[in-house]
Amino acid sequence: MKHIRKLHTRKRYLLKLYQMKRLSLFLFLIFSLKIHAQKLTAKEKQIINGINKQMPQTMQLLEQLVNINSGTHNIEGVKNVGIILKKEFDNIGFTTEWISLPDSLKRAGHLVAHTKGKQGKKLFLIGHLDTVFEPDMPANPYKKLNDSTATGQGVVDMKGGNMMILSALQALHKLGLLKNTAITAYFTGDEEKSGSPDSVSRADFIKRAKQADIALGFEEVIIYFEFPATE
Ligand SMILES: [Zn+2]
Repeated sequence: MKHIRKLHTRKRYLLKLYQMKRLSLFLFLIFSLKIHAQKLTAKEKQIINGINKQMPQTMQLLEQLVNINSGTHNIEGVKNVGIILKKEFDNIGFTTEWISLPDSLKRAGHLVAHTKGKQGKKLFLIGHLDTVFEPDMPANPYKKLNDSTATGQGVVDMKGGNMMILSALQALHKLGLLKNTAITAYFTGDEEKSGSPDSVSRADFIKRAKQADIALGFEEVIIYFEFPATE
């Protein structure tokens, strides 16, 4: 009992800490975006316009991905999400690879998309294909609740984050800004419950991450901002 109470207190504390962190991140994003919105260069405005313009396709693809069950143990579902994302990265000039894992791990594997070049920092953008929702759980298809909010399995964690990575890179590609860059987008297929042992399921991820200058995770950060048009 004491142990349980202790655990609950700790859980509450962690939840509080998490909520505070989320709030401060949210506020930071709002303030930094507001400040930066006034200082954007012409090129940055073009990128934002590109992202806004392709928003209908972005949302359509998000819906498609959310409606594919990709619980960590649903190997076929995780692979299907990967196949769709792979095509999108192929279309914008990325080299794509599927990293298979030994059968004993019972996991789908990972999708890697990368460009090779010498311009700028080497970026490592992190997403994942799986969700915590297995096929035997109640279905919750994608549903738009209002202009800026949607519900569905994995819509936040983290198919929305995956779409942020893709949409930003699509906009950069359209403006020819991906030439000679070194960007790796890595989508693990077992983030929610990694295949055991980690030394095998994460070997390729760690090897590639170590080659990067900057790593950015897009987990659970989905804040939709409609920037003013800047034609
Ligand atoms: Zn996640």
